Amino acid sequence: MTKKSPITVAHGDGIGPEIMAVTLDVLKAAGAELEIETIEIGEKVYKRGVVSGIEDSSWESLNRTKCFLKAPITTPQGGGFKSLNVTVRKSMALFANVRPCVSYHPYVRTTQPTMDMVIVRENEEDLYAGIEYQQTDNVVQCLKLISSTGSERIIRYAFEFARANQRKKVTCISKDNIMKMTDGLFHKTFDRIAKEYPGIETNHMIVDIGAAKIAASPHIFDVVVTENLYGDIISDIAAEVSGSVGLCGSSNIGQHGAMFEAIHGSAPDISGKGIANPSGLLNAAVMMLQHLGQTKVAETIQNAWLKTIEDGVHTGDIFNPQLSTRRASTSEFGAAVIERLGQLPTKFKPVAFGESDVPHIQMPDIKLPKPAAKKLEGVDIFLDWRDKGAVEVLATELKALTNALKLSSIDSRGLLVWPASKAKAEMGDHWRCRFTAANDASPVTHDQIIRLLDAIQKSGLDFIKTENLYSFDGVRAYTVAQGQ
Ligand code: NAD
Repeated sequence: MTKKSPITVAHGDGIGPEIMAVTLDVLKAAGAELEIETIEIGEKVYKRGVVSGIEDSSWESLNRTKCFLKAPITTPQGGGFKSLNVTVRKSMALFANVRPCVSYHPYVRTTQPTMDMVIVRENEEDLYAGIEYQQTDNVVQCLKLISSTGSERIIRYAFEFARANQRKKVTCISKDNIMKMTDGLFHKTFDRIAKEYPGIETNHMIVDIGAAKIAASPHIFDVVVTENLYGDIISDIAAEVSGSVGLCGSSNIGQHGAMFEAIHGSAPDISGKGIANPSGLLNAAVMMLQHLGQTKVAETIQNAWLKTIEDGVHTGDIFNPQLSTRRASTSEFGAAVIERLGQLPTKFKPVAFGESDVPHIQMPDIKLPKPAAKKLEGVDIFLDWRDKGAVEVLATELKALTNALKLSSIDSRGLLVWPASKAKAEMGDHWRCRFTAANDASPVTHDQIIRLLDAIQKSGLDFIKTENLYSFDGVRAYTVAQGQ
């Protein structure tokens, strides 16, 4: 008898329990060898006052099984609650979120009949680090963190994934025309790694046109690799274009574990009605079975599912009187898949997963970049300052304080306002004041910055943040203000 694979299952919120029940029924009927540990996550746990949405005992299960089949959960908006999805992805070090988006033309209505793309989304950093601050009455901040190692890991994974799955092209999507340092690092890393895969075609697109092209001509894409936020947005676009957000499953892959889920959320608007499409979670479960090496069961389920779709048994989200033969509830759709277990689709090409289709991609150890010659060149001090006149008043006050460091510019949310500026900046309360060496030849020291901050606080000004200005190997490693 095959040894059962231990997995952790969470039924989630909203439509989660409805689609998970159907998914587990199909897995059981297909003969998946699973030892299921059930945990509770999400709304009920938040309501018990656990702000992370997950109890310690559930972590024990995840650490033991290292394989998580998760239904969507409702993330409370605002407040002190962290997104559990993000917490789990980061805590289990699930760096790659893989989202295949395929159209099932002509049996599911779509404007894009030949779409077959996979989005590989970075899962651990970017604006999703969730590091946010209110700094003044008027301004809040979210930090975007992109690392060289994080970029290399996801980009290498995308190329390895393309190679393992006989995919021909990898497209990088970023916004490095605007975020020249963060997205610039991601794009440069892509260009560097791409050289190691000469057999794979590569290109880069700015996210705005990239998203537009995914909506209008997704057939030009094969594998897309991108940062966390862009990946989230473009994969919903891609899923919707393929027919419904309810169709796509995803895997979250790490070195020490994996999580499988639908790409959609808990859909509170249709929860409890028994009409949700369970296909996203079922497709995620197929990915899980492949990951666990149960490729034959994965193949049986995928073929039965394709047969159900081509037979026109459709849930409401993809129901179309011209194409569908039956409007199925969630459980009726599950029963239709179970009925077809062992059958092959006759119109779609049946899938055949070999043992080698277990997508265990071996990743090399990714090392920190070599240390560079790092030189302190100045400091940006952000001030909360308002209602005291024109910015010249602030500049005069700051110039009087400085000694070893000189005030070189002031900007308002990135727009230069002092010295001479043609910009018509709104009189706000958030000012970035840049100080550099008074004598260009002399080095800047931390001690000078501390003395400057001391002088600023003694003068009654409110500094809300400081950011040191460095060069690395002689290259300036900070941006200048717009208009500078
Ligand atoms: P959503 O994906 O839940 O729903 C968007 C739209 O798609 C709704 O009209 C919904 O009815 C429809 N839809 C979604 N899944 C469907 C399915 N399987 N069958 C048929 N129709 C489906 O997005 P939302 O409304 O923005 O978010 C609802 C909640 O889900 C929020 O709390 C959000 O934070 C959470 N969420 C969770 C996850 C996750 O757990 N991985 C992902 C995204 C959103």
